Amino acid sequence: MPEPAELRRGEQESGSAESPPQAAPDPYAELRREMVKKQIRARGISDPRVLSAMERVPRHEFVPDVHRARAYEDSPLPIGEGQTISQPYIVAAMTAALQLTGTERVLEIGIGSGYQAAILSLLAADVYTIERSAPLAHSASERLARLGYANVHVHCGDGTLGLPEFAPFDAILVGASAPAIPAPLAAQLAQGGRMIIPIGDTDSQELRLLEHIGEGFHVRSLDPCRFVPLVGRYGWRES
Ligand code: SAH
Repeated sequence: MPEPAELRRGEQESGSAESPPQAAPDPYAELRREMVKKQIRARGISDPRVLSAMERVPRHEFVPDVHRARAYEDSPLPIGEGQTISQPYIVAAMTAALQLTGTERVLEIGIGSGYQAAILSLLAADVYTIERSAPLAHSASERLARLGYANVHVHCGDGTLGLPEFAPFDAILVGASAPAIPAPLAAQLAQGGRMIIPIGDTDSQELRLLEHIGEGFHVRSLDPCRFVPLVGRYGWRES
């Protein structure tokens, strides 16, 4: 699992048996622990790998400066371009549903701030992500590189088409809501793979979990949710 680059640098400079490396104190660490305890564990998410990733990724780095103080609140927040970073619980619930073990190739649709991609990057081997907004793809890509999440590969384009050149994927996470499951994404899910996607109308949706079993797909409904729309050829039409 990758460590943020700054930690790696710290270890190289000061790491020795006599003086163990000291990461700079993180003023947000306590808020993050509280977030995990009260918003995530208390609501029934118990996968220790997911809880640990949520405790490690500095969510305040993924929100605009004006919202920094609210980064660990129990809500989505605006990230520009009319988009939002999802509520922490929803990020954790979607991630837990994928049951990642560390070896997977994951496809994410809609990188937004890059926060969800950072969480996935700690839990899987590689994360491929597609964002339709060029400014968001650019800023998320820079942010992830700066923070040391080196196994996230950012693409710009219509994510409803997936990334056939890198398929199949062991897991697919769609971070925007669709009227129905985009056929190209289902086609790019590996045998035994899982996809989590919000499905519904533009006002309210529910998370659906698809498992590719044998020739077909097993579909289950999970939490109700409210996401920004997935706009593209196999999603909502541009208005
Ligand atoms: N999970 C993200 C937030 C996602 S917001 C985070 O952690 O910050 C949803 C994102 O999906 C937006 O950035 C939006 O631009 C993007 N999006 C919408 N339709 C898309 C499409 N067809 N392909 C790729 N990205 C899309």
